This record gives sequence, structure tokens and C-alpha cells, in this order.
Amino acid sequence: MKITCIRSHVLQYDLPEELGYSQQFYARRTAHLVEVSTDEGITGWGECFGPGTVALANRTIVEKVIAPMVLGDNPLDRDVVWHKVYNLLRDHGQKGMPLQALSGVDIALWDIAGQVAGLPLHRLIGGAHRTSVPAYGYGMMLKRQSVEDHITRFRDEAAAIRAMGFVATKMKTGLGARHDVRLCQAVRQGVGDDFDFMVDANHCYTTPDAFYVGRALEELGAYWFEEPVAPEDHDGYRELRAGLSVNISGGEAEFNRWGWRQILENRGLDIAQPEVCALGGISEYLRVLALCHAHFTPVVNHVWGSAIAVATNLHLLAAMPPLPGGLNPREPMLEFDTTDNRFRDALLTEPLQIARQVAANAGRVAVPQGPGLGVVPDRAFLAHHAIDA
Ligand SMILES: [Mg+2]
Repeated sequence: MKITCIRSHVLQYDLPEELGYSQQFYARRTAHLVEVSTDEGITGWGECFGPGTVALANRTIVEKVIAPMVLGDNPLDRDVVWHKVYNLLRDHGQKGMPLQALSGVDIALWDIAGQVAGLPLHRLIGGAHRTSVPAYGYGMMLKRQSVEDHITRFRDEAAAIRAMGFVATKMKTGLGARHDVRLCQAVRQGVGDDFDFMVDANHCYTTPDAFYVGRALEELGAYWFEEPVAPEDHDGYRELRAGLSVNISGGEAEFNRWGWRQILENRGLDIAQPEVCALGGISEYLRVLALCHAHFTPVVNHVWGSAIAVATNLHLLAAMPPLPGGLNPREPMLEFDTTDNRFRDALLTEPLQIARQVAANAGRVAVPQGPGLGVVPDRAFLAHHAIDA
């Protein structure tokens, strides 16, 4: 069996309204899918993390750099392919876009392996520890509006996400530490006292500001405080984790086993959030998961992007062993963006219908059962939303 073609599909549409987080506002949604074809008629699908113009750069890496290295290789030799690409690109980037590009190719090779074996991805990995996964709904994005309007909207939106059936919710911060504490109070008010909420700062704080917000989160009983400081600030992470009782989470901007080894050995994370579409694909995710568990650090995957990313993560979350185990362990959750996402909701020939599942099944989502990823993009949808370089 041979790889005959590797093609990127970069999709984009204008969002119905502008959305923001602590770093920027954005008005378009982008997705980058990777299609790997073989001489035996089996096609695999993957996805690369990276919004906007980053997706265009990653497309060039996928099609002009990685594809020539691996055309003609056996797609079932996915670990050989991974190391061949990584070793040849090492001198040009051990993190960032080369790894994001490799991730999409690697995920597609696992999709092919599942189809050849006739097994869903989760069984190829080792089996399902759970047949459905609880989902948390994130929303409460920043907008160009006043602090007071943010507060009212966050309280109402938090209540609405709970009412949709999700098992927990997650908010953004980024108006400045003092205003952000008021946003967090509004979200606690919105969801009530008996519901988990999490706070995602997208690394906008200095360590002292993160302590200020973190102490408020202890009072409010937030479940986790995500990316409080810059991902390179290992000292800040370690000090925050040592000084706060709220769980410190992060890792979506970290790559490969060597990057993860450093942040785990630094002891700055209570909860690890690897991004399979960025850190190096499924092959590398499984090594990072083993590293996290070797450090007794529970994992809740970072999930972003299209239905390909969501399906991949449903398999990975199903196949994740409980840590440390027990009758009633904390289960890993599926991250679900409640804002408009056509690439998740309308991409597939048979949509996953996650919001509907959440509402009908007490916040839980079924794991796909077809071979490989068990999902197929609709060709007409791809053609309609594709953008040129
Ligand atoms: Mg995040």
C-alpha cells in the first residue's frame, strides 16, 4: 500500500458576529483538513490546528514540504513516517507550524489504519474505557462592549449553557484582572453553586495578576484556571500551582514529547490540555498522554476546529484510561465551543449532532463506531467553503 497524494483543504466563512478572547477579535472561522489518498482507494482525513492565515502557511508545509518526503511510503508505517518528517524538519522547527502540519498528516494515517483494520480508532488504540463522553460547553467570549454589558451577558450566557445540558461551562477573561474577577462572579451567579465552571485567560496575565484572579477563583470554587500566564513562563506556572488551590491547566500551545516533558517536570500543571491537531498528531499525543500519566497529571484534551478534530478527540477521550482509577473517577470531558461553527456542525455526510446529543443524554456524547475516525466530510461542502492560497 502506498501514499499517492496529500492534499490540504482550507475552509473559511464569515462568522455571524465578531468574537474575541484575550489576544484578539476575529470575524472569520477557518479550518484546515488534510486528505491522504492511497493506491488502494482508501482515503484518510486529518486536521491541522491553526486559524486564519496560519492555516495557509500550514497548507504550504503539508503540500510542499511534507508530501514530497512521504509520497510512495506505506501509510500503515505511520510511526516511521512521523519520525522521518520530524527528523528532516528538526533543524527548521521543533514546535509550531511544522508540528501542526505533521499533525494533520498523522491523524489521516491513523484514519487509514483503522479503515484497513476495520476498527474504530479507539479500538485500534486499545479499546474504549467509556462508550460516551461528557461534554462541557464553552462560550462567554469577549466583544467590543462595555464591562457592564459583558457582566450581564456572561451571567445570562452561563445560565443558558447550563440549560443546554452541558456538564460544565468555560468562560474567557481578558478585560483586565479587576474587571475579570467581576466576570467570574457573574458566571458563578449564572450557573448557580452546584455546577462546574472554568476560566480561560489565554495567557494574558502577569504572575501577580494571575494570583489576584486565582484567589477570587478559589473563593468562587472554579474547577480550573486555564493558561493564566504565557506558556513559556514555566516559573509563573510553578509558582501559581504551588500558591493556589484552584487547578492550574494549560498545554494547548505545547508541542511533542520533549516540550511536554519540560512542562510536566516543571510541576506547574494540575490538568494537562494537549491539542492533538497541533502537538504532532495521534502518534505523538499517545506518547504525551503516557508522559502526563507518568507524572500523575490528569488530561482533558484541548479541542478546537472542525468535526474531524471533534471525532478524533471523541476516540481519544474514549480510549483514555482513568487516572488514578476508582469507582467514581473524574472523567475527561469533551470541549465544545457553543459559538457558531459550521465546520463542526455541517461538514460531515452524517453530522455528529453534538448539541442534540448533549440535550438528550444528560450532557454525554456517543463515540463514533465506524472504522478509523468513523466520519466522512461532504465533498460539496468542502468545495463550497474552500479558499485558494
Ligand atoms: Mg484555552
